[in-house]
Amino acid sequence: MRKLLISSMLKKAYNDTSNIIKDMENIISQKKIQYGDKDSDFPRPYISLLQSQLKEMGFVHPYTPGVFDEFTEEAIADIEGEAGLPITGTLNYYVMKYMMKKLSVNNSSTRRERLKNKNSEKIELDENLSNIKTLSNKVDLNNLTNETKEYLKILNHIAKEDGEIITITSAARDPIDQARIMLNNFKSNDKYEGGGRKYIINLYGKKAAPIADIYAENKTDSEKIEEAANIINIIGLSPHLDGKSLDIDVDDNKSIILNILKKTQEYATVNILDEDSHIHLTIKSLNPGGTFKVFHNR
Ligand SMILES: [Zn+2]
Repeated sequence: MRKLLISSMLKKAYNDTSNIIKDMENIISQKKIQYGDKDSDFPRPYISLLQSQLKEMGFVHPYTPGVFDEFTEEAIADIEGEAGLPITGTLNYYVMKYMMKKLSVNNSSTRRERLKNKNSEKIELDENLSNIKTLSNKVDLNNLTNETKEYLKILNHIAKEDGEIITITSAARDPIDQARIMLNNFKSNDKYEGGGRKYIINLYGKKAAPIADIYAENKTDSEKIEEAANIINIIGLSPHLDGKSLDIDVDDNKSIILNILKKTQEYATVNILDEDSHIHLTIKSLNPGGTFKVFHNR
């Protein structure tokens, strides 16, 4: 009885904390939390919560409770340094995501998902995928999710029936790969002032703005890639990082390839995005479904 009571109290505390974190995320997306801010400035005691999380992460300083003081600022700056983020001493979206990752106060569904992935055996892609090619040996099919590997078998089957070859130009990526691809796209769209930034934000959303800022700076490519990869490592950004996406090559046969991809939606939930130069797929599950969209860089 007592044990039950304690566990339900813990559960309540956990839910309260994750609700406050959701609120904080909303606030941070509009305004940074920074030096001088106090609990009373917000609908909930955000600064106190932040300070207790900093303590939990080992940043034990004589904080003024509920006030974003110089010690709070110093701890945040240390965390930014640890994460390889630009040092601001303010609680912005990226620092917060990094802290959440470290504290694993993520929502329970992603934790459940992670556990599931850990427990399930990795599928080996030993089946002969006769009608699927990869553009180079850099395209990583082994780190795809099991669902995506199963999807490749479905795709191969349909391509074979139609007598077509599907060429995969990109599959599972690590943050460095992702940062390099984004930099290349930034450059090729930056022929007119601000074009690269616009492309990054249109495709990845506002939260990718700091990455566009890094790309616009006067630094070497490898410095830009490293800094962007640190941010990507924290916020995720692309389903390629989770092994859920494939990029498909199209040249003069786009309508034929699209037709094959749309047929696979009868066997798997696949979101199809026509990015003009290639088609980006995200495999959601092995139930029928999915969407079709065209990316316009406007
Ligand atoms: Zn893609």
